[in-house]
Amino acid sequence: MKLSNFGAKFTQESGILRLMDDLGEALSAGGKMLMLGGGNPARIPEMESKFREHMLRLVERGDFDDLVSGYDAPQGHRRFLEALAELLHRRFRWEVKPSNIALTNGSQTSFFYLFNLLAGTGSDGRRRKILFPLTPEYIGYADAGIEPDLFTASRPEIELIDPDLFKYRVDFNRVAVMDDVAAICVSRPTNPTSNVLTGEELERLRALAAGNGIPLIIDNAYGTPFPNILFTDAEPLWDENVILTMSLSKLGLPGVRTGIVIGSEEIVKAIASLNAVVSLAPSSFGAYLTLDLVRTGEVLELSRHVIRPYYERRSRQALSWVREHLSGIEYRIHKPEGTFFFWLWFPGLPITSAELYQRLKARGVLIVPGHYFFPGLTGSWRHRDECLRLNYSQDEAVVEKGIAIIADEVKNATRGARLV
Ligand code: PLP
Repeated sequence: MKLSNFGAKFTQESGILRLMDDLGEALSAGGKMLMLGGGNPARIPEMESKFREHMLRLVERGDFDDLVSGYDAPQGHRRFLEALAELLHRRFRWEVKPSNIALTNGSQTSFFYLFNLLAGTGSDGRRRKILFPLTPEYIGYADAGIEPDLFTASRPEIELIDPDLFKYRVDFNRVAVMDDVAAICVSRPTNPTSNVLTGEELERLRALAAGNGIPLIIDNAYGTPFPNILFTDAEPLWDENVILTMSLSKLGLPGVRTGIVIGSEEIVKAIASLNAVVSLAPSSFGAYLTLDLVRTGEVLELSRHVIRPYYERRSRQALSWVREHLSGIEYRIHKPEGTFFFWLWFPGLPITSAELYQRLKARGVLIVPGHYFFPGLTGSWRHRDECLRLNYSQDEAVVEKGIAIIADEVKNATRGARLV
């Protein structure tokens, strides 16, 4: 088959494809793999019964028939947009109107749209890029550009925190907003590290973007007001120059594929146009299913009182397993501040994290090797190959067993290196 450049680009081996393939393989292996890889959220019984209850309500009220029988407008389900604008205004006093919100078929789609809307070759013939001011950053961004070489990025400062933690900070001496930068983008909390940019860092980035006349994109897939997988208090930020993206996935609904883009009317119109061309309209399912939760504000209560405590407990528990099993190994873990990922750093690891990934896979443990999480970062930096991401939201026994095997394999690699 003769492929176009577009076809070749989107069918080549990519981090996100490997991740999703691993997930699929693990599922079809019938639970034999210890899945500490993908980005699946936990199945929280209280959330699942809530969604089931709302599904039944949809059917009983006859809304189910409306849901399945019509296309929504390309901007997304009108009643949901109104309810969300109202909720954001109530909660944060933002001047958000329904015309500032568009839905997509998941945040992953939102980013594909946003990056390619803003970066790439412009009508002036100049190529512009998306800047990630702090890497490591989300793996799913890395391959989302239609044109090659769409990203540029900066290395962070590393702050060591006793006894075995560390935290990345934006190194503003390194962040260069050259005139080929189309937008600045951060995830907060960050996948893979769980880092939460401080309010001061976020404000400096907001000012930097505004001063350069470019948008600041904030990926709030794990943040407030929902799903609120945050273990530190962090308010989000929005103004007409900020594009805030949200998602229903980490509430426990990754299968419904609903992403939310909150931005200027110009951005929202552009997203709606892309929806129309790519899929006529975004799926209505998530919007219908969560409409009452958003309208009544119950989604905030659930996020605060069910989701956050659940993941906070899981994080504490998994951290104690990491400390127990990895004791005696040279490791550090990024301070857990949100998400359901741990970012482990093995300073001086004698093999690359890609090799470690292969060895762990052979032993039935799936993690994601760290080097995928540096989209746009050029130059060599050993740190990239010394880290891995693990998802601790799955079954507790699986997580503990997986951590024990990771510890064992890192010990083997270190011992092997000493023998050579
Ligand atoms: N952004 C971040 C930071 C993520 O971690 C994810 C998924 O893991 C996404 C975006 C995409 O989420 P979805 O397409 O399910 O909304």
